[in-house]
Amino acid sequence: MAASIPQPVDPPRRVLMGPGPSDVAPHVLAALAAPTVGHLDPYFLTLMDEVQGMLREVFQTKNKMTLAVSGTGSAGMETCFVNLIEPGDKVLVCVNGVFGGRMSDVAARCGGEVMTIERPFGEVFTTDEVATAVKEYNPKLVAIVHAETSTGALQPIEEISKIVHDAGALLLIDCVTSLGGLPVEIDRWNVDAAYSGTQKCLSCPPGLAPVTFSDRAVEVMETRNSKVASWYLDMSMVRNYWSDQSRAYHHTAPINMNYGLHQALRDVFDEGLETRFARHTRNHLALSAGLEAMGVKFAVAKEHRLPMLNAVLIPDGVDDKAVRSQLLNDFGIEIGGGLGPMAGKTWRIGLMGEACTQRNVLLFLAALENCLLAAGCSAIAGSGVGAANEFYRSA
Ligand SMILES: *Cc1c(COP(=O)(O)O)cnc(C)c1O
Repeated sequence: MAASIPQPVDPPRRVLMGPGPSDVAPHVLAALAAPTVGHLDPYFLTLMDEVQGMLREVFQTKNKMTLAVSGTGSAGMETCFVNLIEPGDKVLVCVNGVFGGRMSDVAARCGGEVMTIERPFGEVFTTDEVATAVKEYNPKLVAIVHAETSTGALQPIEEISKIVHDAGALLLIDCVTSLGGLPVEIDRWNVDAAYSGTQKCLSCPPGLAPVTFSDRAVEVMETRNSKVASWYLDMSMVRNYWSDQSRAYHHTAPINMNYGLHQALRDVFDEGLETRFARHTRNHLALSAGLEAMGVKFAVAKEHRLPMLNAVLIPDGVDDKAVRSQLLNDFGIEIGGGLGPMAGKTWRIGLMGEACTQRNVLLFLAALENCLLAAGCSAIAGSGVGAANEFYRSA
């Protein structure tokens, strides 16, 4: 029997420059390994309050109902829909990538009557397009992705929020990839519900989904006619555990994941939100300068690009999988391939949280040049590192 026991866990050291998870700082990993306490231990209850406080800061909200759902970003998505939607409710979902598509699937599973509007991958919605659909459909809730990780496009939210609220609907946004890397201003934008994940720009391992709900959203939950279809994600029970008074047991919180998130959020505020956003922009611009000097083109128009997820077109004649394997095997660098209609056509280069550094930008460009030379693309290789260095010197 002993001979068949698998080897101990000893993962390779990677540089995580894909669509998530991103690199995790050693002290966040150390926090995960701290002693587990009980889910009602006074130490843990205090830590939960602190996590809640820091989540409000990062979401830029005063929303009382702000907490970390047990599960990854998709659990945050399900939490928002299953609590706000009852069977027969009309939901408008804006789909310009894989995650908008996932939202429409989830909304329909909750019994929502889903109408979608679509834009090609890599593009974003105009306010007018959303306004027209809202007028035509009169939905209870409008759902849209802030940072589409499948395409690399950034959706402006503020004006759409006005349209949605003028029509008396609720606004739900996916900010899984944007939170911690770009401004997410829940109160100023007047967003009713938002969910995120820990493993993108917050640089914690995957496992928790920060969510926040406005008072208006809470009222909608409190006046439901039907029970929430998911027992696990039912906020009317989960909130009693996270709230100040009763601390009623619902499910056992993933204690150590909350330690990790606590440490990762401390890092966010240690750096400062503005400084962190500026770091993401700066490294994105340096990477762009390098890629463009090499002749590698972005899949998204300049004004809609995400800083933390760079979707580029794979140069003609280059083997997608061969290059990604070489990056991983020779340099330990993970990047993402394309999703959906972009499969085989794009690479997705992440600059999220801890992974968003000058060191990684220069390492990646040098490694990509090496791979492209190996692939016989000598015409485009050789200039990326220089252009990025020039950007860093002059910016
Ligand atoms: C990663 C991601 C999700 C899903 O999160 P999981 O943690 O993989 O469940 C949802 N939306 C967007 C925009 C994402 O980037």
